Amino acid sequence: MCLPVSLLQVLLVFAKEDSQSNGFCWACEKANFRCSMARTPESALECFLEKHHDLVIIDHRHSRHFDAEALCRSIRAVNSSENTVIVAVVKRYVISFFLFVTRYVENANMMACYNELLQLEHGEVRAQFKLRAGNAIFTALEQSQEAIEITSEDQVIQYVNPAYESIMGYQQGELIGKEIIEVPKSEKNKPDLLETINSCIRKGKEWQGIYYAKKKNGDSIQQNVKITPVIGQGGSQRRHSSMARIHSMTIEAPITKVINIINAAQESSPMPVAEALDRVLEILRTTELYSPQLGTKDEDPHTNDLVGGLMTVSRRSFKKFETTQPHHLPSHLTTPLSLSDIPPRIAQTMENEDSWDFDIFNLEAATLKRPLTYLGLKIFSRFGVCEFLNCPEATLRSWLQVIEANYHSSNSYHNSTHAADVLHATAYFLCKERVKQSLDPIDEVAALIAATVHDVDHPGRTNSFLCNAGSELAILYNDTAVLESHHAALAFQITTRDDKCNIFKNIERNEYRTLRQAIIDMVLATEMTKHFEHVNKFVNSINKPLAALEENGNRILVKRMLIKCADISNPCRPQELCIEWAGRISEEYFAQTDEEKRQGLPVVMPVFDRNTCSIPKSQISFIDYFITDMFDAWDAFADLPNLMQHLDNNFKYWKGLDERKLHSLRPPPE
Ligand code: AMP
Ligand code: ZN
Repeated sequence: MCLPVSLLQVLLVFAKEDSQSNGFCWACEKANFRCSMARTPESALECFLEKHHDLVIIDHRHSRHFDAEALCRSIRAVNSSENTVIVAVVKRYVISFFLFVTRYVENANMMACYNELLQLEHGEVRAQFKLRAGNAIFTALEQSQEAIEITSEDQVIQYVNPAYESIMGYQQGELIGKEIIEVPKSEKNKPDLLETINSCIRKGKEWQGIYYAKKKNGDSIQQNVKITPVIGQGGSQRRHSSMARIHSMTIEAPITKVINIINAAQESSPMPVAEALDRVLEILRTTELYSPQLGTKDEDPHTNDLVGGLMTVSRRSFKKFETTQPHHLPSHLTTPLSLSDIPPRIAQTMENEDSWDFDIFNLEAATLKRPLTYLGLKIFSRFGVCEFLNCPEATLRSWLQVIEANYHSSNSYHNSTHAADVLHATAYFLCKERVKQSLDPIDEVAALIAATVHDVDHPGRTNSFLCNAGSELAILYNDTAVLESHHAALAFQITTRDDKCNIFKNIERNEYRTLRQAIIDMVLATEMTKHFEHVNKFVNSINKPLAALEENGNRILVKRMLIKCADISNPCRPQELCIEWAGRISEEYFAQTDEEKRQGLPVVMPVFDRNTCSIPKSQISFIDYFITDMFDAWDAFADLPNLMQHLDNNFKYWKGLDERKLHSLRPPPE
């Protein structure tokens, strides 16, 4: 049916001309709608009686000019206003209205007015046209000579027309609301006819043929029947209105505000500025605001593989991949009774744990690969974590042991030594003056716990691998932040399953909730697909004055940055430690490539092939791409000259090897 939408009649009721009324005038013109302007309720009513507008927009921002609700009531009192859409322009913070179902939050930006008009046209105004058209169609049905019946999808009769009543001998009231099968059928039809018709309708197809109907008096009559399913219109109409709703909900999102501000600025800008703003808008409209466009920065295969392997996911084939871990505290573990019982040899290796140059590999050896429990006991005690959580040291000890037992000691990199290393870096950062100023005690506790658990049960394979292999974890977490989701979820499962190791047992519900949220947020922040988002948000926020930094939002950004920097701080460690970490991560990547080849899976990082890889090149790329900018920003905030010095040395070390075309971790002996 042709609906005359292009000739929409709009009435604007604004007591005074201002940028808002001008915005709508301009928008009407652009949309090719006919627009009338009224300055008083009286003239508005007079104008409405004459033209019966489809859309009336009333200024409801200033009650001193006129009573917008009274005007709305007067218009509604006119019979023909039934199909008119009335919109109130309201101030930003007005919550509810009785009369005005539709509201427009004041925004004089011309494009915003135009968008609103288009939305109204395609949404409510068109719906009103359809209602009006519906009335006309029903009048036609009532007059038709043909018998017409309308049923719902589940075959309940909704309507029969007068011709149907007279032909079949039923009254409307006897049929409406009944299911079709309740109405007696003629035996003259073939037994499978109804099934044929139904299957046709179910497929959305029309059925036409001879059908014997049974009149109320029992007589059969032969009819030429056409049955048409009605699906498209209802479906698409529903979708349209829900889309319109989503749009009006997001209109006040911060990014929409920014876009509107730029739109407005464009209108009064000279051409070159307007064009530059066009490009800005183009960027703002994309969703990946914080990710650099990959491939443009670097053509180096090491960077590409690292970026591809760590930041994106490819899905090509599906194989099963299981992690087999105990998740429980193995009973054979013997443990230090408390901090004071730590064997002297181990205590000695931890003496300088508050220094950045602390050697975690010594501790790994001294504790027979259980550095996390020992270092955890010492660091948690230094920060008073047990006092904060009101938990006995024995509970903390059991917790550290069970968490450590769930790290895979068979991984060359992602084992409990890495967790202990990240815990160490986290504790170190927490002692920096600016960090201390920005965070609360609960943030410190959350950061220490998050660092401890952040890679628990890591299978020694990347997210991309798990997705390609169709592993159970990838399926559970929908290929999204698979490992990080697992680390966080498993940490809480292990902790809360058994009172013996539940370090949260004695804290208040609200405090638990805050702590849990902060821990989850930090563990998820270690996911590398979000690397640039976290770093860029942090950089944007530290450019603000200190007062603004103390806000909660910025505390979150500081915590995310802190754990991220702790997690990949190995290039900033003293050279020997840095080299050891590079060897371990390379070995883990090599093992993954070996397995990908063995299993016929896509090789996600081809440069990490043990036969061909240049470790120095891979480290140069990793530092260039992920480390330099991040630590520049973190150093600017937390003041870490020693880390930056190590980073510089290490970078030169890898460069030196690469210049000598060496692929190994260390130069060959002279
Ligand atoms: P996580 O898995 O939480 O330790 O996240 C850090 C990511 O950075 C991991 O995917 C590591 O494989 C990667 N990574 C850390 N250190 C290095 C390094 N030195 N070279 C290359 N990749 C690294
Ligand atoms: Zn990690």
